[in-house]
Amino acid sequence: MKNKKAGNQAGLLNQENKEKSATSDSSSFQMVLALQTTLDLEQLLNLFSMHLQAFVAHSGSSFSNEALEVELSLGRKGRHVCSYNLQLEGESLGEWQMSRDRRFTEPELDRTEALLCHLLYPLRNGLKYRVALSHAYTDPLTQTGNRAALFQSLQRELELARRYGTPLSLILLDVDHFKSINDNFGHDTGDAVLRSIARSIKDSVRGSDILFRYGGEEFVIVLSNTAKGGAMNLAERIRRIVETSVCDVRGLNLRITLSLGVATLRPGETHLELLHRVDQAMYQAKRSGRNRVADAIEIEA
Ligand code: GH3
Ligand code: MG
Ligand code: MG
Repeated sequence: MKNKKAGNQAGLLNQENKEKSATSDSSSFQMVLALQTTLDLEQLLNLFSMHLQAFVAHSGSSFSNEALEVELSLGRKGRHVCSYNLQLEGESLGEWQMSRDRRFTEPELDRTEALLCHLLYPLRNGLKYRVALSHAYTDPLTQTGNRAALFQSLQRELELARRYGTPLSLILLDVDHFKSINDNFGHDTGDAVLRSIARSIKDSVRGSDILFRYGGEEFVIVLSNTAKGGAMNLAERIRRIVETSVCDVRGLNLRITLSLGVATLRPGETHLELLHRVDQAMYQAKRSGRNRVADAIEIEA
């Protein structure tokens, strides 16, 4: 973005303009203060748009950063759009747009450009914060959610299931005899197998944000709005896909099998109790001979 000076800051001002300028300086200062209050990108863009309204009316605004897969939009998109490629110290931060049905005037665009300068540092901090958060919740080996992300998701889904009376199921899966892969082919091969398994599970479930690495070679799938039958079917489908596909890792065509447990939330159950039951179900699958699915209900009696 070019760093233009706002037009009426230069030159002599008459009394009316002086007053306007004082109000606008104070609004601009308010904007600067507001933008310091959050690292959350959505809130930040909301605040910017809200404060910008005092200078340039617009019906909608948006921000995107392709590399970080950020796509945010506010309000209603109008017929006239103006976009800015935001850059700070040579680093591209993304594209910001505003729109409305009426054409924007030159002074309005100059004002917008000047005010966008206030957004740059808070926006860069917000983007950094988003990357840091995503690292904190992602397992670096398999690029699935980690245990912290699982607990957060479980608590949120449990609350929603309670509030709307919808079913919630979990699948916990554990790779069979995984230790022997490490022992026979080395830890690196074991790592590659884990990545490959995570990939095939992600391909078989509705979205990649429901798969979590629970521990070493154990993964949990959180199935919102899914009753026992649907969860059992999915678990069986995953078991079969992994059993019948050859895991091609470093030219070794390995055969992998999984043991899976399935549990559905009971009334009044906590997320820890639910996790405990699905864990028990998975162990039941191991005890019954591995490469199979066990239902938590069957083992309650
Ligand atoms: P079972 O069928 O009973 O599940 O047998 P198993 O060998 O899979 O189970 P066990 O718990 O004995 O071994 C799990 C192994 O997983 C042991 C551990 O070294 C390995 N492991 C855990 N995390 C990782 C990892 O990140 N990378 C690799 N390569 N191995 C891991
Ligand atoms: Mg295990
Ligand atoms: Mg295992």
